[in-house]
Amino acid sequence: MTDVAVIGGGAAGAAAFGELLACYDAGTVHWIVGQHMPGRGVAYATSDDRHLLNVRASAMGVFQEHGDDFIRHASRQLGQVKGTDFLPRRLFGDFIQAQVGARIDAARRAGRSFRIHPGSAREIAPRGEAGYAVRVGADRWLEVAHVVLAIGALSQRPLRTVSTTALDSGAYELDPWRLDRHPKAPRRVLVIGTGLTAVDTLLSAAVQWPHAELVAVSRHGLWPFTHAALPLSPYARQAALNQALLACDGALPMLRQVRRAIAEMEDTDWRSVIDGMRPVNALLWQGMSHARRRQFLRHARWVWEASRHRMAPATGEAILQLEEEGRLQVHAARVLDVDGTAPLQVTLRERATQLVSTLEADLVIQATGLDTAVAYCAHDLLSQLLRDGLAVADPLHLGVLAKPDGRLLDADGRVQPGLHAIGSLLRGNLWECTAMPEIRAAAHRLAVRLASADTAVATLDSAGEVP
Ligand SMILES: Cc1cc2nc3c(=O)[nH]c(=O)nc-3n(C[C@H](O)[C@H](O)[C@H](O)COP(=O)(O)OP(=O)(O)OC[C@H]3O[C@@H](n4cnc5c(N)ncnc54)[C@H](O)[C@@H]3O)c2cc1C
Repeated sequence: MTDVAVIGGGAAGAAAFGELLACYDAGTVHWIVGQHMPGRGVAYATSDDRHLLNVRASAMGVFQEHGDDFIRHASRQLGQVKGTDFLPRRLFGDFIQAQVGARIDAARRAGRSFRIHPGSAREIAPRGEAGYAVRVGADRWLEVAHVVLAIGALSQRPLRTVSTTALDSGAYELDPWRLDRHPKAPRRVLVIGTGLTAVDTLLSAAVQWPHAELVAVSRHGLWPFTHAALPLSPYARQAALNQALLACDGALPMLRQVRRAIAEMEDTDWRSVIDGMRPVNALLWQGMSHARRRQFLRHARWVWEASRHRMAPATGEAILQLEEEGRLQVHAARVLDVDGTAPLQVTLRERATQLVSTLEADLVIQATGLDTAVAYCAHDLLSQLLRDGLAVADPLHLGVLAKPDGRLLDADGRVQPGLHAIGSLLRGNLWECTAMPEIRAAAHRLAVRLASADTAVATLDSAGEVP
């Protein structure tokens, strides 16, 4: 049996499925999508055109070979667009679906075997050397040689400081993309988080409830920095800097090297330096000990995330405008408690003054970003994999333990040759693996690896050399 099952109907699952359709002919490629609009996932399901991509159009693509396909697709809808533009994420969702559709048509013409399953994968059972059985929905089992987990971000867990009363009140929203669940206009909306998800939530809330006062709270109260309007020239001494960073022991000496480079450069923008580190980010992370990684997460993650995952210039302007109009207030504060029923009582301790105060909010939206703490999640399939020792939680709550190529480790530390992951489950190993450039490269490498491995097995099989 040389079939493959890709689990997950987001952008990573779409990329893996499409890449496999193009090169895998040793068996059937199954795509278990778990939803109705496969391909869009969390990021590209938005219908709000204020939600912009934070990567320029020229760098967005679903598959490794993408050229300027997205620019041409977007131009057909919007008129002429430039590769340097930051376009609505909805458009990229349309594009993913069109690209996968084209791969499906090509696969049909080539006589490839594939199936798309609308249900969710509920269970994975190992079958020794034969691979795995995957249960889809209540009782349908697929027997496959390889499983690709592309299940994306986990549903947010409520912060520990939120009382059950508040959670049950209906005024605490755990899904920042579901403002439509709150038809009654709130007077004050408080968003927990100031990252990219929080920014999009605030922009939508500002339009949905034009008279609502908006409050955003996070420990450092720092918005993501913005991209430059036009691409920046690269930092001339990036290669030397990257070598020096690879020789550093831990995040603090790295930070010093980066600061020195930024201070020394005269006509280069600091953002070029951060972007120029992209080729070595995974190596830098992998070179850190567990203790160093923990130190980085505690002390430097917030500023790294804000500098590395920047927002489109127009998004930054829209947030600034809300602040200038006095509609949006930001607090650098810790949320000590959320309690009550609507309005909720939110108790904060301000970072700068340590003063404690309580704010009332008719609606509190948790927008704290990507959750990768698999040990605490309520995801049936992941829980089963952890329980059965087929997956092991990363000790820093960054997905699961895996090799850099995505093969999962089992509870005995053995590499499982047929169980692979792509995307955010691999954060503990790769750190940066959730943006499209990384996802499509990983999907391509995985498909080529599986295709070459299984072509070899299939050839041996047909020659009768394998029992
Ligand atoms: C708000 C936001 C904006 C972003 N903007 C950009 C950007 O501009 N540019 C960029 O390059 N990157 C961006 N990213 C990062 C990246 O492109 C996305 O995170 C990417 O879409 C991740 O896709 P995914 O498939 O891994 O995860 P998800 O989108 O989370 O999709 C996973 C899917 O798997 C399904 N699933 C889960 N469990 C099962 C199961 N048991 N069976 C079947 N299906 C299951 C889920 O229902 C979901 O549909 C953004 C991310 C977010 C969250």
